[in-house]
Amino acid sequence: MTERIYNFSAGPAVLPLAVLEEAQRDLVSLPGVGMSVLEISHRSKAFDEIIQGCEANIRKLAGIPDNYHVLFLQGGASMQFSMVPMNLMPAGGKADYVVTGSWSKKAVKEAQKIGQTAAVAASTESENFTRVPKQEELKLDPQAAYVHITTNETIHGVEWKYDPDTGGVPLVADASSDIFGRPINVGKYALIYSGAQKNLAPAGVTLVFIRDDVLARSPQSLPTMLDYNTHVKDKSLYNTPPVFSIYVMRLVMKWLLENGGLEAAERRNQEKAKLIYDAIDSSGFYRGHAEPGDRSLMNVTFRLPSEDLEKQFVSEATKAGLDGLKGHRSVGGIRASIYNAFPKEGVEALASFMKEFERTYG
Ligand SMILES: *Cc1c(COP(=O)(O)O)cnc(C)c1O
Repeated sequence: MTERIYNFSAGPAVLPLAVLEEAQRDLVSLPGVGMSVLEISHRSKAFDEIIQGCEANIRKLAGIPDNYHVLFLQGGASMQFSMVPMNLMPAGGKADYVVTGSWSKKAVKEAQKIGQTAAVAASTESENFTRVPKQEELKLDPQAAYVHITTNETIHGVEWKYDPDTGGVPLVADASSDIFGRPINVGKYALIYSGAQKNLAPAGVTLVFIRDDVLARSPQSLPTMLDYNTHVKDKSLYNTPPVFSIYVMRLVMKWLLENGGLEAAERRNQEKAKLIYDAIDSSGFYRGHAEPGDRSLMNVTFRLPSEDLEKQFVSEATKAGLDGLKGHRSVGGIRASIYNAFPKEGVEALASFMKEFERTYG
């Protein structure tokens, strides 16, 4: 087999090896089809089976209630920053946004461009986004059209550990970087969106769960492609969907189901994250960015005593086959992204690299 290094990239990110091997094996000719998945029509029976199989696996994995639609869209999570307010905020209405890091900041900024009021219901920016607000800190307006949260802040490495109580106001979540990294209570949300390239599939597809009742809100004037109703009505086949990404997503969903579903995924992710957080906590050298109670299972962020040491760390880690550890340019430091498909051996390798680096430079 070709040698693979450990890929700590925040996204596009590591995929399960078994999935890559299956996709490779079947790339030239899909069994029973005789054509590559890269060549088949999105209107073909073969693709029908792929997209329906993918949806069935997703529904089974996450226990998605029947009154929710599962959509496969394009434009990334970033497009959802605009589609959510365009569809869900009535003219003259407002929405509440909880700002916990760079991604929720972007989401609220886009909502404000739609021309209605997107308010910041709570923000931890003054604390450099080291935590998620507590329920009692949320200043929620009962008249708001919806409340928006970002369940995992990929750049800062903080993750919501609870579903906020919005008192009946529809809750919307950007779950791009922790979707299916742990069980998810879909019934608590009116809409959940996730760009696929962190935890689900290669880049190109965005997964959306939307509750049936909110569809009635979309104004008639919306461009066809930006109206959720279009994609519900045509089952994500209004225009050509990203066929290959959906195919790989189906394989990833099958892999998750075969490996014990979301509870088992969460257990594995907790074990993996603990190895790195323990390495941080047991040293006086590394400093975790997030407060312990809000630490992400997916993106572990930490600092070293100086920026020079951080550069040295990244460069030596890369040489040791640990790739993609440089923190996002806006935050600095180190970020280890350890999504579902990231192997435990890679985390063990990082933890021992950290100990060795501290022994040398600490
Ligand atoms: C990566 C990411 C995005 C942006 O996703 P695109 O698909 O590149 O638009 C948005 N939100 C979160 C939480 C992310 O991690």
